[in-house]
Amino acid sequence: MSIRLRLTIWYTLLLSLALIGFSVLVYVVLVQGLSAEIDRTLDRFSHEVHRALGPTTDPTDLRHSHIADLDSIPVNEFTAPGVYVQLLDDQGQVMAASANLRGGRLPVDPTAIQDALAGQAAWRTLAAGEDERVRVLTTPVFVTDQVVGLVQVGQSLHNLDLTTRQATLTLLGGGLVAVALAAVGGWWLARRALGPVEQIRRTAEAIESARDLGQRIDFHGPTDEVGRLAATFDHLLARLDEAFQSQKRFVADSSHELRTPLTVIQGHLDLLQRETDPVDQAESLAAIRAEAARMGQIVEDLLLLARLDAPQPPGRELVDVDALLVDVYRALKVLAPDREVVLEEVEPATVRGDAAQLRRLLMNLAQNAARYTAPGDRISLACRPDPAGGVFLVVQDTGPGIAPEHQPRIFQRFYRAGPVQTRAAGTGLGLAIVQAVAVHHGGHVTLESEQGESVHGSTFTVWLPVAE
Ligand code: ADP
Repeated sequence: MSIRLRLTIWYTLLLSLALIGFSVLVYVVLVQGLSAEIDRTLDRFSHEVHRALGPTTDPTDLRHSHIADLDSIPVNEFTAPGVYVQLLDDQGQVMAASANLRGGRLPVDPTAIQDALAGQAAWRTLAAGEDERVRVLTTPVFVTDQVVGLVQVGQSLHNLDLTTRQATLTLLGGGLVAVALAAVGGWWLARRALGPVEQIRRTAEAIESARDLGQRIDFHGPTDEVGRLAATFDHLLARLDEAFQSQKRFVADSSHELRTPLTVIQGHLDLLQRETDPVDQAESLAAIRAEAARMGQIVEDLLLLARLDAPQPPGRELVDVDALLVDVYRALKVLAPDREVVLEEVEPATVRGDAAQLRRLLMNLAQNAARYTAPGDRISLACRPDPAGGVFLVVQDTGPGIAPEHQPRIFQRFYRAGPVQTRAAGTGLGLAIVQAVAVHHGGHVTLESEQGESVHGSTFTVWLPVAE
């Protein structure tokens, strides 16, 4: 069942229940109020009749002298419309009736007569002709503790029945119309509210069938739950699209990077087949070895990156990164003897993770510093605690720096800045590995670079959380 249908049904059902409850309440209050008012009128009237009959001492009095006065009983048609009076003797026989009965009789209920003769006031609702009802109060007339006759006052329930019937019809009709309107309105509202969801579904379906992550929902509407869902969905699509594209680019770049040394190797193998000069042969073999080593390096880097991509926690060993930095400093001094390599500040710091990966991170930064600086440039290393927690590992050089347009992409895989001739040196994966290792250890890496006339150089700062 669709949400739309379910919402409409629930909506209609709840409204129906509320309306039924409300109608029953109105009906009960109305009927009870009107009935109570009729009973009050009858009661008051009954008292008036008794007063008008006067203090009777002789049982025959009632039978003879006062009956003639029945007409003088104040039946006020304005305060008590349609109230009828009837006098009965101690046998329950009608002796006299008020003029407004016009010779007719109030209906007489034998049980009411019995009750009244026994000295009790009796309330009855009796049928009077077709579809008409009368409310009758029968009360005894006493002469010194003896019942000598009965007074009956009655009022037609015609108006009450009419009113309640009309109220019932109105409540029922109005209720039905309200429920019908609610159902239609609910259906419409649900469609309006869920329209964008349908739009999202269609887009998802289109993406599925066309295998095109470039599509967007592009929802224009209020930023309510559904609007936010659409925005989130678009955001997700953008991320997926980006990841997918970069994956494609990565595969293309990897193949390209591996093809270059392969071509060189193939060229040298062809040469070797034809070449007879041992010097040239040795040269070709050396070139093949170098290219094979380069390929090996690329494959190893790619494997490391793939491992870092997997959502596995890094190793749990405790690594003294200050000691690592000193190691790398020593290696760098050998690697770049003509650069001014300095160890600036080494505060002890322990990081939880993988020592080999962290060494690789520092080594890549140091190698880059050596590779992209000129003899005489200065390379400084530092390990200093972050006052806010964690540790900074800094590799700074006074090399040519990195142009602002390259900076945002410098950590991408296979991305290389700088002139073409310097590009052949590396694999373009060095900084990608630095970043992946840092992120893998819960840290990050930032670059600051200047390319001014007097001030130039690059500073790579890695922040890592320290072990507790
Ligand atoms: P590569 O193998 O080419 O060194 P990296 O990912 O390590 O790959 O570096 C990417 C690019 O960033 C390099 O090609 C180089 O242009 C630039 N770069 C990296 N480190 C420095 C540095 N210390 N000074 C200047 N340029 C740098």
